[in-house]
Amino acid sequence: MSVETLDAVVIGAGVVGLAVARALAYAGREVVVLEAAGAIGTGTSSRNSEVIHAGIYYPPGSLKARLCVAGKHALYRYCAERGVPFANCGKLIVATSPEQLPDLERLRAQAEANGVRDLARLASAEAASLEPAVRCVGALHSPSTGIVDSHALMLALAADAESAGAAIVFMSPVEGGAAGPQGIELAVGGAEPVRVRARSVVNSAGLDAPRVARSITGIPPETIPPAYFCKGNYYTLAGRSPFSRLVYPVPESAGLGVHVTIDLAGQARFGPDVEWVDAIDYDVDPRRADAFYAAIRRYWPDLPDGALAPGYAGIRPKIHAPGEPARDFLVQGPREHGVPGLVNLFGIESPGLTASLAIGEHVARLLA
Ligand SMILES: Cc1cc2nc3c(=O)[nH]c(=O)nc-3n(C[C@H](O)[C@H](O)[C@H](O)COP(=O)(O)OP(=O)(O)OC[C@H]3O[C@@H](n4cnc5c(N)ncnc54)[C@H](O)[C@@H]3O)c2cc1C
Repeated sequence: MSVETLDAVVIGAGVVGLAVARALAYAGREVVVLEAAGAIGTGTSSRNSEVIHAGIYYPPGSLKARLCVAGKHALYRYCAERGVPFANCGKLIVATSPEQLPDLERLRAQAEANGVRDLARLASAEAASLEPAVRCVGALHSPSTGIVDSHALMLALAADAESAGAAIVFMSPVEGGAAGPQGIELAVGGAEPVRVRARSVVNSAGLDAPRVARSITGIPPETIPPAYFCKGNYYTLAGRSPFSRLVYPVPESAGLGVHVTIDLAGQARFGPDVEWVDAIDYDVDPRRADAFYAAIRRYWPDLPDGALAPGYAGIRPKIHAPGEPARDFLVQGPREHGVPGLVNLFGIESPGLTASLAIGEHVARLLA
C-alpha cells in the first residue's frame, strides 16, 4: 500500500479538533482532519451543556483556567463576528445551606485569581429578585457566563478551516501508526484503508485520545494517561422555563452539580449528574429521575412532580479514576513525549467547548 504524505493531520472533528484545524490552516499549514464518524461533532461536542463558562472553577494557573478565560473572550467575539447564535445570559451559583456560604467566598477568590473579577455576592433576597423561582441562602452572580449554539459554532469553525484550505475526511478512523524520523505514519481504516505520513499530527480524538495514542508506536507509553468515562445525564423540563439565567448549586467532586441551563430556544434542562461508566453508552436511565428531583428541589422547591423527562447524556473524558483529584487538561507537545510534530490532547472535558478557540491557538503555537 502506498503512503500518502501530508503536512498536518488532526484526528477528530469535534469542536476542539475543528478549532485546531482552523488555527493551523490560518497559520499556513496544509491540514487534513481525519474523522471516524460521518459528520462533525457527533461526540462530546454535541452532548454537553453549551455553556460559555466564565472561568470560576479551575485552579489558578492551570490550563483549564487560562484557556477558559482566554477562550471565553475569543468565543464571544467570534460568535458576534460569525453570526453564531449565543446569549450572554449570566448565571447564579447558589448556596442552599449556611454551611455552603464559605464555598461561595472560596469560588469568588479563585475566580479573581483567574482574572474573573466581575462576580457579585448576592444575599438571598437579591438572588430572588433576579430569579424569583430560586430559594437560596446566598449566591454569586456571574455576568460573563453565557450559552452558545455548539453545532452552529462547529459549522463556522469547519467552514473557516475549509476556506483556508483544510479538508475534513469522514468515515476515516485512525487505527494505529508509528512515529519515526520521517514523520508520523497513520493507518486509516474505513471503506478504503490508506496509510498516510504527516509532519505534524494532533490527536484530538476526545474519549478515544488515549487509545489512539497507545496505538501509535514510538510514543512513550508512560506519557499516555489512562482513560476513564464519567457520564453526565440530563433531564428536560416540560413547559416554560421559570429561569432566565443559568442556576448552579455549589460544585461537587466530579462535576459542577445538577444545574439548570437554558438553550437558545428558552427550554430548560437539568444536569449533568455524575455516573462513572465502563463503556460509552448514551442511554438515560429513567430511574435516575428521583435523584434529579431531590437535587433540583434544594434550590427550586416548586419543581412540580412529573415535570422532568429523560433527555440526553454526554461522557466526560476523564484521565483520573473516581475519587482521585481532578486533573488539568493534558496538552502534550514534543517537549513532554519526545516525538517531533505530535500534540496529544487528553482529558479535554469541561470547559473544552468554551476554551476551544484558545486550545486551537495554543496547539498551533506548540507546532510553530
Ligand atoms: C456532560 C458534559 C457537559 C459539558 N458541558 C460543557 C459546557 O457547558 N461548557 C464547556 O465549555 N464544555 C463543556 N463540556 C466539555 C466539552 O463538551 C468538551 O470539552 C468538548 O466538546 C471536547 O471536544 P473534543 O473535540 O475534544 O471531543 P469530541 O467532541 O468528543 O470529538 C472527538 C472526535 O474524535 C473522533 N474520533 C474518535 N476516535 C477517532 C479515531 N480513532 N479516528 C478519527 N476520529 C476519531 C470522534 O468521532 C469525535 O468526533 C461538557 C462535557 C460533558 C461530557
